Amino acid sequence: IYILGIESSCDDTAAAVLHNGKILSNIVATQEVHQQYGGVVPELASRAHQQNIVPVIHQAIARANIDKKDVSAIAFTRGPGLMGSLLVGTSFAKSLSLGLGIPLIEVNHMQAHILAHFIEEENFKKPSFPFLALTISGGHTQIVKVSNYFDMEVIGETTDDAVGEAFDKSAKIIGLPYPGGPLIDKYAKEGNPKAFPFPNPKVSGLNFSFSGFKTSVLYFVQKQTKENPDFIAENLKDICASIQFSIVRILMDKLKKAVKQTGINQIAIAGGVSANSGIRNALIDAEKRYGWNCFIPKFEYTTDNAAMIAIAGHYKYLEEDFSDYSITAQARYKF
Ligand code: ATP
Ligand code: FE
Repeated sequence: IYILGIESSCDDTAAAVLHNGKILSNIVATQEVHQQYGGVVPELASRAHQQNIVPVIHQAIARANIDKKDVSAIAFTRGPGLMGSLLVGTSFAKSLSLGLGIPLIEVNHMQAHILAHFIEEENFKKPSFPFLALTISGGHTQIVKVSNYFDMEVIGETTDDAVGEAFDKSAKIIGLPYPGGPLIDKYAKEGNPKAFPFPNPKVSGLNFSFSGFKTSVLYFVQKQTKENPDFIAENLKDICASIQFSIVRILMDKLKKAVKQTGINQIAIAGGVSANSGIRNALIDAEKRYGWNCFIPKFEYTTDNAAMIAIAGHYKYLEEDFSDYSITAQARYKF
């Protein structure tokens, strides 16, 4: 089975070819144009997707060293994401499927982030069902009970900002360029995580809230720079380490609660923020400390990519769960 995956939900145009779940190619064109605006500009994103999609798909097929006639099915991101961006991938996937006369498979982007754990890799353990997925990305923060490939239930989620936004907005406050998450991670490695304590927001059940967190970082920085204009420059590493430590603590507190509530102690992390070294180390620690069995994805499958779309497509292909041509992109796509 050869699956071509297409991802265009946000600001990365991506295509990948999988053969029986193994990656033959995985191409991502990241749009640099948004950096100068400090965030993704939807109109510019859809334009860039239009420019990138043909070369990216060509490259994915060429790298895979197959002919497009070998492809068994086209899997594409239907949502959630930016409407203009999703439309580019959706329309292209439809026409390609029609042109090649092969099945079309719609994929939920958030399910795909989780299913990235099932990409065939040497020396990589896959979770078994049921497991809990902590999905942490630029637009989402969810705890998902995963009972089967497409039998997933959101048991906790953010009531406001996503954890990726908490990283990126905090980074912006301390003057780091967009997206600041990876930079906070980088500086945090050499800082003192206990230097500046940030409060743990009180949210009931398994839900999260990050808008107050960002505000507490803002007030703290404003207060300190009033006393010492060089406060940020002098304490950058400690500030980053403290922000990261506090965010990771919020995530881990809820995960512990979810494990207690469900009795499931197999934990997989997914989404862009799962690249973060703080959360990775916290999970490795939890294996020893609480006897959890944790699954940490390879870096290339954390942020947006098309291999995760293709693996989701692979499992839908096995179930012959195909889409018809009336299917449309869905900016808010819950599962
Ligand atoms: P969604 O999947 O919810 O639609 P998205 O696709 O835009 O959102 P991803 O590409 O999955 O999000 O993740 C991007 C986010 O991950 C950004 O907020 C970025 O700052 C964050 N991120 C990436 N690497 C790290 C890291 N090492 N530490 C912290 N955050 C990180
Ligand atoms: Fe994503």
